[in-house]
Amino acid sequence: MPGFEDMDRLYLEDQYMREFDATVVSVEEGRVTLDRSAFYPGGGGQPADTGKLVWDGGECEVTGGAGEALTIEGDRPSVGTAVRGTIDWERRHQIMRAHTCLHVIDGIAYKQYNVDITGNQLYPARGRLDLSFDNMTRELAQEIIDKSNEAAARGLTVTTRIISKEEFAKNPELMRVAHHLYEKYDEIRTVEIEGFDVQADGGTHVANTSEIGTMVLAEYKSKGARNKRIYVELE
Ligand SMILES: [Zn+2]
Repeated sequence: MPGFEDMDRLYLEDQYMREFDATVVSVEEGRVTLDRSAFYPGGGGQPADTGKLVWDGGECEVTGGAGEALTIEGDRPSVGTAVRGTIDWERRHQIMRAHTCLHVIDGIAYKQYNVDITGNQLYPARGRLDLSFDNMTRELAQEIIDKSNEAAARGLTVTTRIISKEEFAKNPELMRVAHHLYEKYDEIRTVEIEGFDVQADGGTHVANTSEIGTMVLAEYKSKGARNKRIYVELE
């Protein structure tokens, strides 16, 4: 994809790709860079994928990401080696569920309550959100989660699209959650939950909100007069 740095980021167009073939373009101590990768590299509150690389005569664990590079443990492939990458799919799918869950909560919080989500961290099947609102209470947070569960249960389709920087500039409402990274890209990817919420986003999502599962408000903490932190778990 032109403009998306040098590496072909396969996960942007196919979020369900679990295995892929690639060629090693650089190797450093504990790090490998590929010409194309379906491993999410980390960023925007979404952790990097883990998994493994296998090639003729060796294999290594992928323990995370460092910029475009994968961090590895085990054998080290040489530059030019053809490798097969496999993502730890159970973990990744749980993170995808958590990411789409965040967008559903954000859609409800923003549109119905004018509450801003100012920060987030995603984990497999759970997430932490920072909410900014003058009169936020645990009861209100629970109400937002209840409405988010109702919305997700409707089975809404989630789609991604690439738009130009110019189109993005005309639609400032796309830049909502503070966690998203846009500036470094020439093109912007948007994630739309059918008839519900659309925003710029470079992470990975489930294809339908019915995959999210049930959101549970696990913890509520005050971080100051306006700022509250909630922990959501998925069942
Ligand atoms: Zn997002």
